[in-house]
Amino acid sequence: MTKDYYKILEVSEFCSEQDIKAAYRKLARKLHPDVAGNSEENVRRFKDLNEAYQALSNKAKRADYDTARRYYNYSSTTKKRESVNNATNPGFESKRKDEEHVAQAYSKEGLRFSWEEILSKYRQHSKQTAKNTSTSTQPKRGNDIHTDVEISFAEALSGTTKVINMLQTHICPKCGGRKFANGTVCNICNGKGEISEYRKFSVKIPAGVKDNSKIRLSGEGEKGLNGGANGDLYIIVHIKAPLDYKTEGLNILKNVSIAPYEAVLGTNLKVKTPNGDVTVKITPNTLNGQKIRLSGCGIETNSKVGDMILTIEIQIPKNLTQEEVDLYKRLRDSANSKSY
Ligand SMILES: [Zn+2]
Repeated sequence: MTKDYYKILEVSEFCSEQDIKAAYRKLARKLHPDVAGNSEENVRRFKDLNEAYQALSNKAKRADYDTARRYYNYSSTTKKRESVNNATNPGFESKRKDEEHVAQAYSKEGLRFSWEEILSKYRQHSKQTAKNTSTSTQPKRGNDIHTDVEISFAEALSGTTKVINMLQTHICPKCGGRKFANGTVCNICNGKGEISEYRKFSVKIPAGVKDNSKIRLSGEGEKGLNGGANGDLYIIVHIKAPLDYKTEGLNILKNVSIAPYEAVLGTNLKVKTPNGDVTVKITPNTLNGQKIRLSGCGIETNSKVGDMILTIEIQIPKNLTQEEVDLYKRLRDSANSKSY
């Protein structure tokens, strides 16, 4: 803090906005290089004047500057102010430490910082202090925990219950992570600041669960501190070899692809269902979009079971061989003599 803008503007730090404007206008006329000359000294003073005016003519900037100026000047006046403030302001002690800390950092000889730098340092420091003091008393919600569980396709369709055994680590509730309590090593966490324990969870996974679904176990995450709520535990469900299927109530909907010749001539298809692989007969002259119902192959609950509904998609083959193209040409030539 090498520049005192109030001194530069020749005003008191308690002056009004109008005083600052008036002082600036007066000095700007006097110090303008056109009037005062172009010497290095004059140019510097004129620049300083403008810098001072920029900082003090804006209310917010002036408040910032005042803060920085106060803390910068603090060390020389600490003793005097301490006796006054300690008696009247109970929060003064921690504030005083902030001021001292910043003042010490910046009053070292030879260090020349801009007031913005001092201010930002002060803010950083007081934010940190606020954080440190708040963790000791304010309620803090525990963190959420995420874990994964893998189930089979059949389990996904019918629903299942999985037991998850997981190691949970959370901040020690007694010492709040500070490792010491009442002046001795914390006897709950043995000075580790955190506690790890295995916990078993029985997780009910509903029928028809989708791959990557999240199941939330409310309040089973990390423990809150100082009366804060516990975090939640999220179980992410992964379905082994997830198939391309949708569900609609208890029914499973699935698209199956067949080649044009299979649609015309009929074929047998192997389809995965919750009951295992099923061979499905595709009759000759099956149409695109035609549906085939596999009764009882859907989602099963305690009392009911749905169906699997297949939708036929006739796929046009890609990358035909010359032989195949020739066969299609023969097909086209013979088709020209028929009507569909
Ligand atoms: Zn502890």
